[in-house]
Amino acid sequence: MKIAVCIKQVPTREWQPRIRDDKRWIRDEDVSYEMNEPDAYALEEALRLRETHGGEVVVCAAGPARVQQVLREALARGADRALHVEDDGPQAADARVTAGALAAAMRDEQFDLILTGLQSDDQGHAQTGVIVAERLGIPHSTIIMEVQVENPSTGSGQAARLRVKRELEGGWFQWLTMPLPALLTIQSGINQLRYATLKGIMAAKKKEIRKVPLPAGLAPSQEIVALALPSRTKQTQIIGGSPQEAARELVRRLREEARAL
Ligand SMILES: Cc1cc2nc3c(=O)[nH]c(=O)nc-3n(C[C@H](O)[C@H](O)[C@H](O)COP(=O)(O)OP(=O)(O)OC[C@H]3O[C@@H](n4cnc5c(N)ncnc54)[C@H](O)[C@@H]3O)c2cc1C
Repeated sequence: MKIAVCIKQVPTREWQPRIRDDKRWIRDEDVSYEMNEPDAYALEEALRLRETHGGEVVVCAAGPARVQQVLREALARGADRALHVEDDGPQAADARVTAGALAAAMRDEQFDLILTGLQSDDQGHAQTGVIVAERLGIPHSTIIMEVQVENPSTGSGQAARLRVKRELEGGWFQWLTMPLPALLTIQSGINQLRYATLKGIMAAKKKEIRKVPLPAGLAPSQEIVALALPSRTKQTQIIGGSPQEAARELVRRLREEARAL
C-alpha cells in the first residue's frame, strides 16, 4: 500500500503568540516549531498500515525551508521518503492554495491512501485534506478514529477497501466502508505514538526529500484582515439538583460543552 501523509509545521504550544504591528501575521522571529499534533497520529497510523500490509510511506509538507525539520523528524520515525513544496512567499496561503500545491505534488505518485491531520494546531481550518481529495478526484472521510483494510492483497480477488470509524458529536461514532484510493483526516489519539530512535535519526539523514516547486496560478480565496489574541474570560455556572444529578450534569457539560473529557 502506497501511503502519503501531509505534515504541517506549526508553532509549539508553549510559544506565546505575538502579533505584528500591521496585525496581519504573527511576529515569527523567535518562534520554535513542531509537528502538528494530529499529523503525528496520521504518520503513526500510516507506519502501522505499512507494517501490516507492506508498501511505503511518503511524507509531504508545504512551506519555507524550515519545514524540512518536521519532514526529517517523520523520516526518523520511519517514513521512507519526503516531498517538500518549498516556497518562502505565501505566509498567508490559505487551505485552498496549500491543498492545490500538495495535490499537484502528489498527483503523479498515484497513492492508494492519503492521510492528513484533522486540522492544524495554528490556523485550524480543517479544510486542507478535504480540498486535496477534491482536487485529486478521490473520496474522503473526516475525523477518523480507526482504520481497517478489508480484502488486502491476499489473493482473494476482491478489491481492497477501507472500513473506517468516524467521530461524531456527543460521543457517537459512525462506521463507513470506502474504496481506494481515498483520503482520511485523522483525529488525535487514534493510536500510541512512537518516537524516533537514534538508529532512525541516523537513517533519516540519508533518506530523500524531493523538492517540488509551488505550481503557478494558485490564488488564495481568503485574506487575513486582522489577527487578535483571545482575551481571558471567566464564567461561573451553578449546577442545581441532588449531588448525583449535579455530578451527572457536570460530566455532561464538561464532555459536551467544555469538551474537556
Ligand atoms: C508554499 C507554501 C508556503 C507556506 N508558508 C507558510 C509560512 O511560512 N507560515 C505559515 O504559517 N503558513 C504557511 N503556509 C500556509 C499554511 O502552511 C497552511 O497550509 C494553510 O494555512 C492551511 O490551512 P490550515 O493551517 O488551517 O490547515 P488545516 O486545513 O487545518 O490542516 C489540515 C491538515 O492539512 C495538512 N496541512 C495543512 N497545511 C499543510 C502544509 N503546509 N503542509 C503539509 N500539510 C499541511 C495537515 O495534515 C493538517 O493536519 C504556506 C503554504 C504554502 C503552500
